[in-house]
Amino acid sequence: MSNQLSDRINNLPASATLAMAAKARELKGQGKDIIGLSLGEPDFNTPDFIKEAAKQAIDENYNSYSPVDGYADLKDAVIAKFKRDNNLEYKPSQIVVSTGAKQSIANTLQVLLNPGDEVLLPAPYWVSYSALAILSEATYKEIPSSIDTDFKITPEQLEAAITPKTKLILFNSPNNPSGTIYSEADYRALAAVLEKYPNIYVLSDEIYEHINYGAETFSFAAIPSMYDRTITVNGVAKAFAMTGWRIGYIGAPEWIARACNKMQGQITSGANCIAQRATIAALEAPVSKIDYMVEEFHKRRDIVLELLGEIDGFKLNVPEGAFYVFPDVSAFFGKELNGVKIENASDFALYLLEYANVATVTGDAFGAPDCIRISYAASEEQIREAISRIAKAVS
Ligand code: GLU
Repeated sequence: MSNQLSDRINNLPASATLAMAAKARELKGQGKDIIGLSLGEPDFNTPDFIKEAAKQAIDENYNSYSPVDGYADLKDAVIAKFKRDNNLEYKPSQIVVSTGAKQSIANTLQVLLNPGDEVLLPAPYWVSYSALAILSEATYKEIPSSIDTDFKITPEQLEAAITPKTKLILFNSPNNPSGTIYSEADYRALAAVLEKYPNIYVLSDEIYEHINYGAETFSFAAIPSMYDRTITVNGVAKAFAMTGWRIGYIGAPEWIARACNKMQGQITSGANCIAQRATIAALEAPVSKIDYMVEEFHKRRDIVLELLGEIDGFKLNVPEGAFYVFPDVSAFFGKELNGVKIENASDFALYLLEYANVATVTGDAFGAPDCIRISYAASEEQIREAISRIAKAVS
């Protein structure tokens, strides 16, 4: 039978991160000893105090629909968090709690974009940004960067990329996949360009905010001229090891929040009620409660940089946050390894999967075709073993 699916889904690329994780899982199921460094998922358990809050919510019979945009006391906790960590003031009508930051981003793109609108993506960018732009029938334009500039774009590049069709730009700091953190000065310089274009909105994805190794993170909406046109996205998945709980949220101009609420009212009716109650405990806790995870990620980052740095052909920078390294591996392009011709980063990632049994993700999916993403959200033992296998496979 011919393909009867909608153009919408036919045009949508599958998630490269989830696809690689599924492939690694499948190979493991076949008995292969695969080390999965493809997925950005903390390998810690959710802290006990959050699990206790969830258990209590079950016992207290939180089993009905919540308000579509989240429980009022959770929205208060989100407001307090934005104030405490980001110096941002929001009213409850500006907050929408969703089924993960990914849904918060999808909502925002769906409610803001019309066919033909253009989205700017400073590259490298997280795989789902481009896909969600396509799903919104918009087009997207990459603004390239490279490892030599620490994967940051410049204000000049931003200005050159803007056209009359530009409606939205997506910033992500700390960045997935590069780990780069834009400083307050970086963001203020980019904002100075955007001030000249009042019809451009900004989505600031701050999901990795707490996974940083000393650099100050800064919220784009904290620039007064940007507040009224910035949607700040965050969630509990990465900081609190709660990926599967699926809770994200936005702080946004009221008219955008209202539209996202309407969207969710037709699609999910709101986020899972037990996970929402658990999120209150997470957000109300002092940030120092997760220091042990951040310290461990920091230690692993240094190990990964040291070990990968010993392999010829891996060009590295020092990621300041998130839990990825994003080496430039273009030195391998055009070479033959074990009889396999490596033309690009996808070939290289597939080669590592097959010959080192290590799952990574090609940089193509992130708009950076010279690189691969390696997640170090794995045990030190797995990381050491994976990199030693990679070293052997490429020697
Ligand atoms: N955000 C994580 C990653 O980039 C989780 C997987 C996904 O949703 O893409 O690996």
